[in-house]
Amino acid sequence: MDQSIVGTRFDAGAQFVGGELREGTAENTFDVTNPADGSLVQRVRLASTGDVDAAVAAARDAFPEWSAATPGTRAEALNKLAGILAEQAEDLARVESAQTGKPIRLTTEFDVPGTVDNTAFFAGAARNLEGKATGEYSGDHTSSIRREAIGVVGSISPWNYPLQMAAWKILPAVAAGNTIVLKPAELTPLTSLMFAQACTAAGIPDGVVNVITGSGRSAGEHLIGHPDVSMVSFTGSTGVGIRVGEVAVQTVKRTHLELGGKAPFVVFDDADLDAAVNGAVAGSLINTGQDCTAATRAYVQRPLFDAFVAGVAELFDQVRLGDPFNPQTDLGPLVSLRQRDSVAGFVERARGYGATIAAGGYAPEKGHDGTDLTLGAFYRPTLITGIAQDAEVVQSEIFGPVLVVLPFDSDEEGLRLANDTPYGLAASAWTRDVYRSLRATREIKAGCVWVNDHIPIISDMPHGGYKASGYGKDMSQYAFDEYTQVKHVMQDITAIARKDWHRTIFGDR
Ligand code: NAD
Repeated sequence: MDQSIVGTRFDAGAQFVGGELREGTAENTFDVTNPADGSLVQRVRLASTGDVDAAVAAARDAFPEWSAATPGTRAEALNKLAGILAEQAEDLARVESAQTGKPIRLTTEFDVPGTVDNTAFFAGAARNLEGKATGEYSGDHTSSIRREAIGVVGSISPWNYPLQMAAWKILPAVAAGNTIVLKPAELTPLTSLMFAQACTAAGIPDGVVNVITGSGRSAGEHLIGHPDVSMVSFTGSTGVGIRVGEVAVQTVKRTHLELGGKAPFVVFDDADLDAAVNGAVAGSLINTGQDCTAATRAYVQRPLFDAFVAGVAELFDQVRLGDPFNPQTDLGPLVSLRQRDSVAGFVERARGYGATIAAGGYAPEKGHDGTDLTLGAFYRPTLITGIAQDAEVVQSEIFGPVLVVLPFDSDEEGLRLANDTPYGLAASAWTRDVYRSLRATREIKAGCVWVNDHIPIISDMPHGGYKASGYGKDMSQYAFDEYTQVKHVMQDITAIARKDWHRTIFGDR
């Protein structure tokens, strides 16, 4: 890999505290590598708990001024930030691709523009906090609502969309007047640091946005448990999310948990087969399947089943794996060899139980462009059939380019199977019948249900889970419900010393 992508950018260190980069003080370092070939992108000295304390102190010190800034001032800074991110788009896309192995087409056309749009959205939303109208609800008082910032937010993000996840955490928090300490995943901290630097360049005061690069167990838990952190916002796996909840509740912190997913993709027998096949391929393979909303379980009504499987298998086999920096490459590696081996383990166990592997099911050696893939974390798009609803590959989050397809007969059965996992983040229904569509969108238990599409997200609309996929919303105006606290102010308007309700104490005296 071309080392000049990152160059000297992080020579000062990979901790962003109080508006500047500095070196971590933990004993250990972490090598951020490109999973396409294992090459070193950046060696990082990790954050110690002392570095976390320094970041939290910077955020705490910045809170009074930032929370008192007018919405207009915050919006102005965020608008400027959107412009700076747009100017740095190419750079951000290249660093994001280097640290994750994502194809440059994906980072250029999805990750970076999505982040710029999200920033522009929250610039507008900062001036638009909503609440019930002030009024005399009791008759004797004027009641009004204040929506106030919460304080220092401690955020933890995953490696699958590092830049977008940093944006999803930082933007609503600071738009609402909070300050933040974000801990990105150790594997992928670099674009979160660039985002924080851009915040400073946009005029967001020092200490409002801090990023610490450290391990989950030490830096992460120290951040969540810190007495000066008032809220915890976490995106990651359900297992770690439960641990985060356990730690946060010890100091009664508000928590916002965006966790794992296992999205169903339900194809009714009147669906446009071609659209469903194309949708399943794109919806399951986006980001090499490392997407919490990716289509993972396709349920196809019996009359379309064989044609659907044949169509998806054919397109899976055509997907081009190769150098992520080649614009012709469709799919990059998984984020690490460990993740690739985990995915391969799921497939091997399914194979062992007698499942049919209708496409893929192996780590390829050569890319479409002749690239040697043996050093990278590549895995072919894999289609699995002939497996039962209670199988591991149907129930557990694999987080890789693997789609399982099962048949169903009645509509009731299809919807019941769709709901039959612990998760509830996203789902899609494929039909041309408006009543089937209405029924599916009503009955599927998930935070987002698409009809005749699967994956698109938009800054104006909320993203968040049901069931074991967590609670709370990222993006949209709804995110402010997480990042603000609502205060009821009730002011007497009677000026009467002994009020009517005092009868509970004084009786008729
Ligand atoms: P992960 O849960 O392993 O790690 C997420 C983050 O938590 C990392 O920053 C990690 O360092 C940190 N962490 C680990 N242990 C910790 C601890 N004890 N205390 C505090 N922090 C700790 O997840 P991952 O492997 O990075 O990401 C993949 C997972 O994220 C998948 O389950 C995926 O579905 C989920 N995800 C969910 C959403 C969503 O919006 N619901 C979005 C993206 C990813």
